[in-house]
Amino acid sequence: MDYRLIAEIYSQMEETQKRLKLIELYSKLLKQTPSNIINKVIYLTQGKIYPDFLGFEFGMSDKLIIKSLGKTTSDSHEKIQEYYNKVGDLGEVAKQSIMNNAQTTLTTEQLTVERVYETFEKIAKTRGSGSIEMKLSHLSGLLSDASAIEAKYIVRTLNGKLRLGIADYTVLDALALAFTNNRQNRIILERAYNISSDLGKIALILATKGLKPVQNVEIEVGNPIRPMLAERLSSSQEIVDKIGKSMSLEYKLDGERLQIHVNKKQVKIFSRRLEDITNHYPDVSEIFSKIDVDNIILEAEAVAIDKKNGSYLPFQELMHRRRKHKIKEAVKNYPVSINLFDIIFLNDEDLTNSSYENRRKILTRIVKINKKLDIIRNKIIQDADEIDSFLEQAIKEGCEGLVIKNLQGIYRAGAREYLWIKLKREYKSEMSDTLDLVVIGAIYGKGKRVNRYGALLLASYDKKEDLFRSFCKVGTGFSDEQLKTIYEKLQESRVKNKHAMVDSKMEADVWFKPNIVLEISGSEITISPIHTSNLNEIRTGFGLALRFPVFTGRIREDKQPSQATATTEIVNMYNKQSKKITH
Ligand code: ATP
Repeated sequence: MDYRLIAEIYSQMEETQKRLKLIELYSKLLKQTPSNIINKVIYLTQGKIYPDFLGFEFGMSDKLIIKSLGKTTSDSHEKIQEYYNKVGDLGEVAKQSIMNNAQTTLTTEQLTVERVYETFEKIAKTRGSGSIEMKLSHLSGLLSDASAIEAKYIVRTLNGKLRLGIADYTVLDALALAFTNNRQNRIILERAYNISSDLGKIALILATKGLKPVQNVEIEVGNPIRPMLAERLSSSQEIVDKIGKSMSLEYKLDGERLQIHVNKKQVKIFSRRLEDITNHYPDVSEIFSKIDVDNIILEAEAVAIDKKNGSYLPFQELMHRRRKHKIKEAVKNYPVSINLFDIIFLNDEDLTNSSYENRRKILTRIVKINKKLDIIRNKIIQDADEIDSFLEQAIKEGCEGLVIKNLQGIYRAGAREYLWIKLKREYKSEMSDTLDLVVIGAIYGKGKRVNRYGALLLASYDKKEDLFRSFCKVGTGFSDEQLKTIYEKLQESRVKNKHAMVDSKMEADVWFKPNIVLEISGSEITISPIHTSNLNEIRTGFGLALRFPVFTGRIREDKQPSQATATTEIVNMYNKQSKKITH
């Protein structure tokens, strides 16, 4: 398949802000793709070559790309750098340099998708000494056969700035449209995606074998499952209304969620974002490599504990584990306790359709607890009166609150529903449960402090439309240090105009690709004429907004933008709030 086809569709996709049009264009590309390489095309449009959990990175700096352009074209290295400083988009720079290049007419070989993909694989896999030179020569080889528009997208893929505005749900829509001519079939694809976390794999099955085999996709140990999530409610009465009188109350610990996969003593650990974080937890791997089963998938919350007395420490302490080097030292200085709360798979048996009650029984039977390994404390109750006292007890013991679980509930991968309900003390008083919102824009402050923004424009996530809709502007709660860190992190995501996945009536001085998630508290949710979150849902022509937003100090590194607070959650919170006011 010619890479030119991909480049042309990308370029049309860039022109549109409309999601339906994006789906249509992308599905047109998928239809033209030979079925045996459809997975490659899917990964490429996501800016990668494998699913995220395999953890490959290209490792190409802007500097290296510029060097490669200098080597391939007749433009000097300095001229390219200068042009880059001016336009700030390396893809455009590549396009221009190739267009200027006198030698392009000598181009001989047609670039195929297969060749681009294989070269990207080589670039990602080249490591160690001499790797810079190797990467450079792989890229130069590609660029010397690329047309201007192809070069633009090759470069943007390698430097992580493809900016096509299509996230996972849009890809699923496009796949359903391309291969079944019915977008409704996205539901079937979504289930398979939720248990495999691999869009390329689903696409390949769909294109080569059809929809039925997608329905039969099974869990594979070693492939992360998209985590089941909890809804929130604020009173025991509401909880009883949702799940009846008998339920399990579990402590909600404040740590890092781990999905632990063991296959024949081989351990893999995935984060809530499904990155492979096995290397951060050698101590946990050690424990689970000794578990006496063929294979198993478990979920746990890792909590940092005090070295001296074993008490729980704040979540932030776990960040010491997120490093590449000196991990042994980090393990020694920042010990964790592992607190299991679910079992998804055991000895080749998928337990996701088994009830919570049954899964918990299996968990207790299979795990031998010790000082480092525990099962999260729970209490099965028949009477809602016990909820409040158990919540108080949990908070006294250093927990965030409770996760209340429906005894009959199955494990719904990737879903946020009322089978699990989280209850924190804050929910009971005012709205002040925190929200996780995505930075979509920034406004310069007065006096334009260098390397700082005055306020950030934040959005909620509209899952149905796959859009980030503006919800509030936050300018308080930041320390100087945090302002600087956030500013630096945001530079990577800067885009020239409002991003295709952003819906905002409000203007910003700078726009970003939705990337960074911040934890925000606020006083209440109100009807808003300016913000577009939940537009027309409560009142025609109006959206919802957060009043008095304050940054809590926590950057949610563990969340992807699509895992931010959803518009559906916001409307629920709004309705609950108004109920309280009217009662
Ligand atoms: P939050 O920011 O409130 O942790 P979240 O969006 O990360 O929410 P939710 O599904 O809404 O995730 O809340 C459940 C989270 O709480 C899990 O992701 C997990 O990390 C953590 N947790 C702690 N204790 C439990 C428990 N007993 N059962 C399930 N999850 C638990």
